[in-house]
Order: sequence, then C-alpha cells, then structure tokens
Amino acid sequence: MAQPLVSHPEPLEPPLRPLLAAQPSRFILLEREVEQEYRPQMLEALQRKVNTVAEEARAAVPECPRCGQPMIYHDTRPVSWLAHWGRLQASPSRYRCSPCKQERRPLLDILGVEPGRICGSLARRLGLLAAVAPYELAARLARLLLGVTISAMGVWRVAQRLGQAAANYSEALSQYHADSRSEGAAVDHAPPAVVLGIDGCTLGMQVRTYRRRRVGAEPLPALPAIEQGHFREVKTGVVLLPRERVETSPGRRSVVRRFLVTCLGDADEIFRRLYAQVRELGWVGPHTVVVIVGDGAEWIWNRAAMFLQRCEILDFWHALEHAWAFARLRYGEGSAQADQWVHQIAEDLRAGKVQEVIARLQRLRPKTPELRESLQALIRYYRENAGRMRYDEYLRLGYGIGSGAVESAHKQVVHARLRQAGMRWSESGVRRLLALRLLLLNDNWELLDRMRMVSLA
Ligand SMILES: [Zn+2]
Repeated sequence: MAQPLVSHPEPLEPPLRPLLAAQPSRFILLEREVEQEYRPQMLEALQRKVNTVAEEARAAVPECPRCGQPMIYHDTRPVSWLAHWGRLQASPSRYRCSPCKQERRPLLDILGVEPGRICGSLARRLGLLAAVAPYELAARLARLLLGVTISAMGVWRVAQRLGQAAANYSEALSQYHADSRSEGAAVDHAPPAVVLGIDGCTLGMQVRTYRRRRVGAEPLPALPAIEQGHFREVKTGVVLLPRERVETSPGRRSVVRRFLVTCLGDADEIFRRLYAQVRELGWVGPHTVVVIVGDGAEWIWNRAAMFLQRCEILDFWHALEHAWAFARLRYGEGSAQADQWVHQIAEDLRAGKVQEVIARLQRLRPKTPELRESLQALIRYYRENAGRMRYDEYLRLGYGIGSGAVESAHKQVVHARLRQAGMRWSESGVRRLLALRLLLLNDNWELLDRMRMVSLA
C-alpha cells in the first residue's frame, strides 16, 4: 500500500497546525480500509474465475498450427502471473507436435497471459502511464493511482511489450492499405475535402550500444554528449475535415476530430501512413479534394503528387516568417517599420495578391549585398510557391491557410513525452512509445485490449 511521501513530526508547530491535520481525513482512512480489506477478496474471486476457465479448457486438445494434426500431451506445470490485485496461478497443460517443433499451452492462449509477467488490465494501465509520463514518474503514478509498487524499469518493460504490439499493428495497417487490392472503408460518404498536414522535429538518439549498469549505490555514469548524426527525424501527420473546424472564440479555431499518424524518419513512410489512415476512414472518394498543408519543404510536395485531386497550400505562417527574415534585416529587429511592412504583405497575401507582392519586392533596391541576397531568397521562395499561396481561395473554400493544427498535434504526440530535458532514445523505444501515444491521442486506447503483448528477448 502507498506510504505517505514525507512524514512530519507531531505535534505540529502552530503555523502548520491549521493547514496540516495530524492524520488523513476520516473518510480517506475509511476508503483505504475498504480497499485493503477487499483486495485479497478480489484476488480470490478472480482466481476462482480463472480456475473455472481452466476446468473448461482441460478437455480441449489443440491442433498443430502448422500441420493441423492434434497435438500430443506433454506435461502440466504450474505457472503464475501478476495482475492488479496480486499473483494468479494456473496449471496449464502443454501440448507438442514434435515433427513441426510446435508447442502450445491452450489455457494461456485463452486467458491471454504470459507466465511470470504483468498481464491483463494492470499491464494496460501501466502502459497508459508510460505513454504520458517518463518511466520514473509513471512508476510513482502507479503507486499513487493504482496502489501498485513497481520500478521504473518494470514500467519500461511493460511499455516495450505493449508498444511493440501497437507498433506491429500500425505497421501492418499501413502495409495493408499500401496494397491497392486491399479493401479500404466505404467511400460513399467521403467528404468533399480532407486536410492533410505534416510536421517534424528531431530527437536525440542513444549513441551507446549497451545499457549503463548501476554498480552498487553509485549513480549511473553520465551519458556521452550527443554527436552529429545521432539525431533522427520524427514526423507527425494529421488528417482532418475542413468542415469540422469550429471557431471556439473569435480568431481561435479548433477541430472536432483529427486523426494522427507518426513515424521515425523516412518521408515515404509518413505518406504511407497518412494514406492508410484516410483509406481506413473512407475519407478519400473519387471527388474528394486532398488539401495538403506544408512548410515549403520539397519532400512534402514531391510526395503529395500521389493524390491526384489535390490542393497544395504553403502554410501561411511559414510564408510570413520568410518576409520577417528580410524585414528584420532591413528595418531592424523589433522596429515598428518592420512590423508595418510585414503586416502589409500579410494582408496582400491573404487577399490572394501574391503576384503583386512579388512585383513589389522586385522593385526594391536594397543597398547592401546581404540585403540583396535576403531579398532574392524571399522572392525565390514566393515564386516557387506562388501556386500554393492562393490564400483568398483557400479561405473561401474553407480549407484554412495555416498548419497550426498540425504543429499543435505534433507537439502533443512528440514533444510532450519524448522531448523533455536530457532524453535520449533508442530507435525501438521511440517506435513503441509513439505507437502507444497514437492509440491514446486518436482515442483508440481500447484497441490495446485486443492486442497480444509481444515477448521481447
Ligand atoms: Zn505439426
């Protein structure tokens, strides 16, 4: 049971006395008392139900998954596993098919438990804590919320096994939809337009090839500094319907629903996942316009071509950021003139006057080589993207002009858990954790109940 984190000497000194009672409230004590009393009873009740299932499973002789022949009884050995209220026991029979080198313990398959491991709901709840908090903190939350004592490493292990299951599932899903013969969801109710946005950031990766070991009570040796090349890009894609954008307060928009996909690295991979997600939703029909919002990075536009009916939009704020870069150089950081200059450009761009803006920029005669270079870069950027800067049209069609929803989604998926101070990741660690976070943020967490935890060597 949970112990108080700090114990105070009693009796308390006067300034603290009115603020801190000598004991927890009577009601809290009652709640704890009942919990203590019924925990063993819950465990017993659960054990009885497990025994009933074991009884039912006794007669079943499994077929070999490879050759289909009935398997041969081998032995019966007791096993146990951990659940929320304690340890459960069973004696599953083991069957074998020697020619195929296959082995089965039907009872464990029926129950979906693994000997010696944390299983069932407890495992899922620990996975949930690990998906939202660093492992040390998750272990503390497990104690405070669930009354379960577990080490950070214990939480880590559970999260890896569940995360691998979730990662396998989302990988299989995108493979399934990548095959054009596969059946997507029905597109009878496909929307007229769907918005896809992509954002990315880098994560510091572990450079060590072995785990650090604690020697006695000594603290772990410090990690080496991150070197060049030990960063990996994580990308997040968002799928949403423009018609589901609502104005929550003047100027503030949010979306009713959005679906997230994510991956480590590769540009093709994030598009594969986006494609799988829209097919899974049945959101791209023969008349659907796929609206792709990007920051001007070539790799996004190169791959956007996979959608035949598309509308490419250069994120409005990125377009302005480039104008700011020049304005700061020309008028000085934080000057009112820079502000005014960019404001005018923003207004014109919003009105769809990108060609006029470009023409105006070309008439400027900057005095220094540095300014000239900056101006040329700005003109080039607007010219290359002019076809994606018809903001008046996008606003009229209700597509939106910014990738704010994408950026906030990306921060929620990645930054909030994986980019905290000093964090370094292994590739498999990132993949697993991202897969868990996606289930949670896409409101699909229950799917995990139907996934088999993956045993990791
Ligand atoms: Zn066989």
